[in-house]
Amino acid sequence: MFVGHYGPSFLAKRADQSVPLWVLFLAVQLMDVFWALFVFLGIERVRIVPGFTKTNPLDLYYMPYTHSLPGALAWAVAAAIVYRLVTGSGKGGALVGAAVFSHWPLDLLVHRPDLALWDNTAKVGLGLWDYPILTLALEGLLVFGGLAVYLGVTRTRPGSRPYSLPTLAAVIFVLQVGMLVGPPPPSDRAMAATALLSYFAIAGVVAWLERGRQPRELATE
Ligand SMILES: [Zn+2]
Repeated sequence: MFVGHYGPSFLAKRADQSVPLWVLFLAVQLMDVFWALFVFLGIERVRIVPGFTKTNPLDLYYMPYTHSLPGALAWAVAAAIVYRLVTGSGKGGALVGAAVFSHWPLDLLVHRPDLALWDNTAKVGLGLWDYPILTLALEGLLVFGGLAVYLGVTRTRPGSRPYSLPTLAAVIFVLQVGMLVGPPPPSDRAMAATALLSYFAIAGVVAWLERGRQPRELATE
């Protein structure tokens, strides 16, 4: 799953608008950020096997540190603690931790059984990736549903453009469709580097775009 992970970050904004959206955008992908880094460094491993699933060619045979259930819980707790230490907000920390953990159940829906319940064993995954239309429908529902909730609790700041975030969501959704129909990545490290850059680029754009919105309850003028 890629763009669908961003749905929960919009929902977390509804619970506490003090948490920056770009932080939540990194939080929901934190497991994949470290996965890409670890693949790049050779700590976790993936094989590119064209046709491995109907949606992507990734044989994710070794990722116990980022995508096992205990791993996901550990990243979530660590992120919650770091956010709490940096900002002093316990509620914000809890939301950031929940956003990090949301990655795992969403991956569970789409992955082949490659998500370990312990270390690199007892692997689970419901395999929606073998149904490309269903996968895209789910990802679209998550990201655009979450976006609708976010747009409902915020308003455009005077002088800002109202359609910038929906445009971004549409662009990353189209990129995802492109990955589905495009050629497989040239190598695991090239794919990891591209993924890592994408996560930070998207969070960076969101940091810029979210300045154009403000909470609705503050809208008094
Ligand atoms: Zn993942």
